[in-house]
Amino acid sequence: MSRIAIVGSGIGGLTAALLLTRQGHEVVIYERAARVGGRVAFEEQDGYRIDRGPTIVLLPEMLLGILEEGGLPRSSLELLHCDPLYRVHFRSGRVLTKFADASAQAEEIDRLYPGEGKGFTRFMKDMAVLYPQGRTSFLERGYASGREFFSPANLSLMVRLRAYRNLRSAIGQYFRNEELKDAFSLQSLYIGGAPFRTPGIYTMLPYAEHAFGIWMLKGGYGTLPQIMARELEDRGVQIHTGAEVESLLVEGSRCCGVVVQGQSIPYDAVLYNGDFPNVEKLLPPGVFKQEQAPVVTANKGRSVSAKAIKRGSWKPSSGCLLIYAATDKRWPDSLVHQFFLPDSLNSSLHELFDLGQIPQDSSYYVFNPVALDDSAAPSGQSVLYFLVPVPAAPDKNWEEIAGALADKVMADAEKRGFPGLAASVIWRRLRTPADAEQEGMYGGGSFGIAPLLSQSGVFRPQPKPYPLKGLYAAGASVHPGGGVPIVMQGAKLAVQEMIKEMSVHG
Ligand SMILES: Cc1cc2nc3c(=O)[nH]c(=O)nc-3n(C[C@H](O)[C@H](O)[C@H](O)COP(=O)(O)OP(=O)(O)OC[C@H]3O[C@@H](n4cnc5c(N)ncnc54)[C@H](O)[C@@H]3O)c2cc1C
Repeated sequence: MSRIAIVGSGIGGLTAALLLTRQGHEVVIYERAARVGGRVAFEEQDGYRIDRGPTIVLLPEMLLGILEEGGLPRSSLELLHCDPLYRVHFRSGRVLTKFADASAQAEEIDRLYPGEGKGFTRFMKDMAVLYPQGRTSFLERGYASGREFFSPANLSLMVRLRAYRNLRSAIGQYFRNEELKDAFSLQSLYIGGAPFRTPGIYTMLPYAEHAFGIWMLKGGYGTLPQIMARELEDRGVQIHTGAEVESLLVEGSRCCGVVVQGQSIPYDAVLYNGDFPNVEKLLPPGVFKQEQAPVVTANKGRSVSAKAIKRGSWKPSSGCLLIYAATDKRWPDSLVHQFFLPDSLNSSLHELFDLGQIPQDSSYYVFNPVALDDSAAPSGQSVLYFLVPVPAAPDKNWEEIAGALADKVMADAEKRGFPGLAASVIWRRLRTPADAEQEGMYGGGSFGIAPLLSQSGVFRPQPKPYPLKGLYAAGASVHPGGGVPIVMQGAKLAVQEMIKEMSVHG
């Protein structure tokens, strides 16, 4: 049995703790904040409660399967199926409904865009072959070297998944209409990337929505870390909240403990679950070489001097303006998940991602949980959440910007789907990239480092990130990437690496 410290109680840290304790290891969790869960949390006021971060449950099988492996039965969670999946509102006035059933979807596309339904059918057929291969190669394994990643089999798969194109252009192989291209590539925004900058490999995301559905956790996604923490505490795991890890102990080429409140505590291994680029601040300065270059390889447990570690330079994902509002009315025609797009999503996102500006005309997502979970707000009332992508620029004057932008977005939503919204608001709260940065999200980005080709696969920090024994990482900025189930999958990879290395080196 080994003693393992986990730095951070985000989904990655909690998942690793479930898997490790299940295998008989002793785990201690240190969490800087006053509560567990990191980005998965609630915003609460006057008895109203709504998710603060994630709302859309994708890949339910991955999520439930990993929890089960960690000893949490599937019955611990109640997942509600969203069907229709969501609606996309275009400025043209067209509203595209996304359906779980593929033939209903093709019909809906043909209704609005005659002749385009067959493109969707072809997309689903192609991806049904490619997705399982992509999952095995790019989600379910880590990479120790560029040679492993760029194997002939992976290269051929990357070509078939159109890694050489961007997501929007890859989707353009199936649809002619610009609105359809937007509707089937906007999913890169879930992980903070622009469709025209995110590699085509992420076509796995729009495919997964139709193949495995979109779900919502009854009671909110914010209940998940609470369920996980309760199970860990029942197993005797100590979870220290309000306990910031100030640095990591490194001796030679081994990470051997943590420093908390000035006290050095030895451990056999450490798993870092904070936003990955911040780990550098916890490592002794002498560990890094002077040059600034991304770390792209992990050493396979060979004894290499810690001095070989290079400092990374990473680009954050987009930020968000988040608006939470309790209202004294409901909108019975509204679905749980809806997207509202500007005249041109491309131009709007170009302003955001290329110019670092707040777009003149923003896209936004609205979460309306009472549409599926009546208990989400008192009878006849609602709690809503608006997510507006903005630059990850924590230094902008958000105090000035946020209120006016929130007013503009809510006025737009009032016209396009929520009549009477402004007059119905009981309270409203805002969160900005400055808040995100304060909570430890790198560069104020909401979703970890950006899903660029240069920060994906072997180019992303790996579950064993450095040629240092005893140090592992899991979280949104670590391979395979962000999103709750994917982070869980990354935690599983980190645990596998840790167990493998500990069984070799003792
Ligand atoms: C607005 C928003 C919407 C999202 N929507 C979705 C969605 O719909 N569906 C979906 O699947 N995903 C969504 N996501 C992404 C998802 O929330 C994240 O990918 C996931 O929760 C990240 O988990 P993590 O393991 O990286 O931990 P994090 O959430 O980053 O938590 C890390 C924890 O580590 C702690 N920590 C950091 N440093 C230290 C230290 N030195 N000492 C002690 N503790 C430390 C932090 O306090 C924090 O609690 C969304 C995210 C946001 C922000």
